[in-house]
Amino acid sequence: MTASDFWLCRTCGVEHAATPQVCAICADDRQWVPPDGQHWVTLDGLVADGMQSYAFELEPGLIGIGSNPPLGIGQLGKVVSTSAGTVLWDPSGFLDDAALATVLECGPVLGVVASHPHMFGAQVEWSRRLGGIPVYVNAADKAWVMRPDPAISYWSGRLELAPELTVLQVGGHFPGSSVACWHAGADGRGVLLVGDTIFPNPDQRTVAFLRSYPNRIPLSAAVVQRMAGTLGELRFDRIYGLHTNAIDTDAAAAIRFSADRHAAWVRGDHDDLT
Ligand SMILES: [Zn+2]
Repeated sequence: MTASDFWLCRTCGVEHAATPQVCAICADDRQWVPPDGQHWVTLDGLVADGMQSYAFELEPGLIGIGSNPPLGIGQLGKVVSTSAGTVLWDPSGFLDDAALATVLECGPVLGVVASHPHMFGAQVEWSRRLGGIPVYVNAADKAWVMRPDPAISYWSGRLELAPELTVLQVGGHFPGSSVACWHAGADGRGVLLVGDTIFPNPDQRTVAFLRSYPNRIPLSAAVVQRMAGTLGELRFDRIYGLHTNAIDTDAAAAIRFSADRHAAWVRGDHDDLT
C-alpha cells in the first residue's frame, strides 16, 4: 500500500479510501465545505508541497505531533506513554518518517484512538505504518469511517487501553465523542485529553460544549449537564484540547462551572441581559 492509495480531505484532514464528490464529514452541519468546493490531496502531494511534521514534549510522558503547515482542522496528535506502551490519540492527517520515528522512540504502540470523527485523521495509515496496530473507533460513530480496515475495532462506553489510560464515551458533539484520562499525567494528578468533546477556552479557566465549533451550534442544557456528570466519573487536574489549548490545573472545577454557566444561558436564565 502506498500513500497514493488513499486520499485526504483538505478541509478536515480525514483519510478516505475513495473520493466522493464531497467529503461527508465536511458536508455535515458540524463542519464546512469551502465555497470553492471540495479539495482532495495525497500524502505524497503534501510532502511535495513541503509539508513536514513536528513534535515536542507537552509534559513528561506526553508528546504532541502536528504538521507545518497544518492539515485540515490541524489537531495536535498526542503520544501518551504508559507502563504497557504508548497510545496515539487524535492522530493527524499528515504523517512522515520523522513523525513515525517520534512515535516509535516512545516505545511499543498499543493502538490509535480518536476522540471523534473530525479527529480520525489518517488513523488507518498510522496503523499500517506502525505494523498494523489496532485502531479503536466508537461504535456510535461507525458510519463516519471513510477508510474501513481490518485493524479497526469498535468499542462502546469505556475502554481501558492501559493501566494508566481510560477512554470514556461522553457524547454531545458526536454520539461517540470521547475523552482519554491519563491517570499518571500532571505528576499523578491526572490529565484529560478531550479533542473537542469539550473545548478549553482562551482564559484557561473555562471550557465550551458545542455541537459545532466552526458553525457555533449549541448543545442543550440537559446534554451538557449529562456530559459534566459523565466526566465527573474521572479523576484529573489538567486538560489538553485538540490544539495547544489547555487548562493547567483545577480542570474538574472548570468543567463543573462551565456546564452550569452554559445551562443557565441556554435555559434563558439571563435573557434580561440580552
Ligand atoms: Zn472533510
